Amino acid sequence: MSKRDYYDVLGVSKDTPKDEIKKAYRRLSKKYHPDINKEPGADEKFKEITEAYEVLSDDQKRAQYDQFGHDGPQGFGGGGGFGGASDFGFGGFEDIFNTFFGGGGRRDPNAPRQGADLQYTMTLTFEEAVFGKETVIEIPREETCDTCHGSGAKPGTSPETCSHCNGSGQLNVEQNTPFGRIVNRRVCQYCQGTGKIIKDKCTTCDGDGKVKKRKKINVKIPKGIDEGQQMRVAGEGEPGTKGGPAGDLYVVFHVKNHEFFERDGDDIYCEMPITFAQAALGDEIEVPTLYGKVKLKIPVGTQTGTTFRLRGKGVPNVRGYGTGDQHVQVKVITPTKLTEQQKQLLRDFAELSGNIPDEQHESFFDKVKRAFKS
Ligand SMILES: [Zn+2]
Ligand SMILES: [Zn+2]
Repeated sequence: MSKRDYYDVLGVSKDTPKDEIKKAYRRLSKKYHPDINKEPGADEKFKEITEAYEVLSDDQKRAQYDQFGHDGPQGFGGGGGFGGASDFGFGGFEDIFNTFFGGGGRRDPNAPRQGADLQYTMTLTFEEAVFGKETVIEIPREETCDTCHGSGAKPGTSPETCSHCNGSGQLNVEQNTPFGRIVNRRVCQYCQGTGKIIKDKCTTCDGDGKVKKRKKINVKIPKGIDEGQQMRVAGEGEPGTKGGPAGDLYVVFHVKNHEFFERDGDDIYCEMPITFAQAALGDEIEVPTLYGKVKLKIPVGTQTGTTFRLRGKGVPNVRGYGTGDQHVQVKVITPTKLTEQQKQLLRDFAELSGNIPDEQHESFFDKVKRAFKS
């Protein structure tokens, strides 16, 4: 099986800067993450995206890929080094977010840190996605402990500076090696890298400074939301530490299908059955729309499959750029149960028209005749 170009996989080009590649990856990984997308093939797609990102986000690997493609000297393709998404240790969405925002790298333990971003998947009915709604969601998240105001120490006491690392959160460890003595820095095990020791722990949060709470958040869903789109609710993620800002909450939408309507972007599609008599003689029919019943004129001599457009009866654009249309495709239904009288009338009709279609369609029947001869 030939592998797809990594740039194509992420929908970026060869000169796309690194941070744009990261954005593209975040967008796609949210769409196809197996925790969210249960459609068949989403899993494979997610792996493909992750593999492409692993290479394109690494300057060295990217340069090599640009030069040699999938058959590079290190063999990017064919299982050499890149497994599935699970090999990267992603336990779920929060892990991905932590990788991007919270985790990674050594930091000053006393520096303010932004709280982790949170993700919430919301399922909407077809109509809710079209018209929007206001709702309250409940998310489990960490909040600053009210008892100790986040210090983790019992009220009346305060955390002390760790005497082992003098508050830096890191220790120098000297080691003898065949090449001489080397000094490694590592996280101070006495204070777990926080630089502080809490002698009397707050009993409410057990010294964490944070407690798990279910928080209710008002969410106003705009009109026109589509499958896989997401909304950022600023500042509603996990709280920051040491005075850092809170993370954001991302609400990812899943939209249910409708029994009658189909949606493509801002346009709505549906099929309406009409009888042969209505198609031949013309009529006025009623068509359901998201905004109630609408009358639709069927012209004389309408062919099956003809599509009519109902302007402005589609979905309001989520960014406010107008409203889509509804496309109504008519299907002429051939009757299956006929009374003797109806049958006789149709026989009379066939005899009168000599089973010859009208002139407009003669060329079509000629083509069919020629196809039988060849
Ligand atoms: Zn506390
Ligand atoms: Zn320490």
